[in-house]
Amino acid sequence: MYKTALYSEAKSSSYVQEISHMIKDKYPWEREFIQAVDELLSSLSLLFDQEPLYKYERILERIVEPERIVIFRVPWRDDTGTIQVNTGYRIGFNSALGPYKGGLRFHASVTLSILKFLGFEQIFKNALTGLPLGGGKGGSDFNPRGKSNVEIENFCQSFMVGLYNHIGPNTDVPAGDIGVGAREIGYLFGHYKRLKNVFEGVLTGKGVDWGGSAVRPEATGYGAVYFAEEMLKTRGEHIDGKIVAVSGFGNVAWGVVKKITEMGAKVITLSGPDGFIYDEDGVQGEKIDYMLTMRSSGRDQVQDYSDKFKVDFYPGKRPWGVKCDIAFPCACENEMDVEDAKSLVRNGCMCVTECANMPLTPDSIEFLLENNILYSPGKASNAGGVACSGFEMAQNSTKIKWSKEEVDQRLRQVMTDIHQNCLQAAERYGKPGNYFSGANIAGFIKVANAMLDQGNT
Ligand code: GLU
Repeated sequence: MYKTALYSEAKSSSYVQEISHMIKDKYPWEREFIQAVDELLSSLSLLFDQEPLYKYERILERIVEPERIVIFRVPWRDDTGTIQVNTGYRIGFNSALGPYKGGLRFHASVTLSILKFLGFEQIFKNALTGLPLGGGKGGSDFNPRGKSNVEIENFCQSFMVGLYNHIGPNTDVPAGDIGVGAREIGYLFGHYKRLKNVFEGVLTGKGVDWGGSAVRPEATGYGAVYFAEEMLKTRGEHIDGKIVAVSGFGNVAWGVVKKITEMGAKVITLSGPDGFIYDEDGVQGEKIDYMLTMRSSGRDQVQDYSDKFKVDFYPGKRPWGVKCDIAFPCACENEMDVEDAKSLVRNGCMCVTECANMPLTPDSIEFLLENNILYSPGKASNAGGVACSGFEMAQNSTKIKWSKEEVDQRLRQVMTDIHQNCLQAAERYGKPGNYFSGANIAGFIKVANAMLDQGNT
């Protein structure tokens, strides 16, 4: 467990502390979920002092408990004819603001704790978008690495057999996450359609020619870059001309690299489970397209980039030791620890924009805030993906398709609004300029007020 001063603020409110203890007593093994809950609670003390109704109506007790969890067996046949068995999950965490909404993660590391942390984050992220979206998450411990196309299709079909009865356009609308991209969404959608005999907007991230939204594949990365630009502006800075360190090489990293390069910055790193690459000339042009090739190869190795473009590869290392102005962690939870944060600051980094979900450990967040670095939590800066999913749902239900320009403009507006709302909430509750507190407070208030309005749900 990560224990730091980040949580010391929580001690000022006994209610917040009580809930934190309750979760630790009840689910002591759910390390990631506890971390996500504690991160939220650490920002809420002042709010509870000022708004006693939240405590009176037991909002926290309710909000930390998922409304429902579905767990199911996913048997599938591999290419040798052998039956394999995985576990499938879908968590409907909170529906105060709309149907459950959030991705599916297919990765060997998936556990209920991981999905509960992701689902919990998703509630507040979705609230921040200002769109009518509840929070949910799901996935499986299925490991897509090295699997053939047929195996992926078999798995997706079996997964949907376990899931289809529990989802629907007005109930729960899954999307992609790590290990689930356009290909998997296609297989999942095709099977849902056969099982239910209906063509409807039950998933987002669909192909643009059959119900998907323009810009959805790029949206998380684009949104994060728009958010970073807003943060930089508060200090009279801009993206143009900046040196950027990116981790990951999947969909989110790809969107960041595409947009930030277009805006005049230079990306010098990418990473994978095997290490990171350092490209002095910048990841640009065909190199950006090659990120897609690496992803669809299913090999999960960034070393392929260094082999192809003859750049340095650092096996087993993370990219945070390089000299850069801005860092975009786009890989996975807890990928940046306090030592990484220290070396970034030592090397002159001025801005850390979370693109993955909970990529920074609490002590690294604490360190960045203490050092007055522009830092944004994922629930604010990576909300562009789910916002665009909200746009996809709106297009599906009205059967109207928006242009690329229209979607991009709306995305930019959502990110600018989130930035503004975070700053306002932070200011109002005594943490000026602190996006961590601002995002937690603004997201929480929106959900909590809807829950109050809806009574004992
Ligand atoms: N998995 C993405 C996220 O973490 C997108 C969710 C969605 O589009 O529903 O926000």
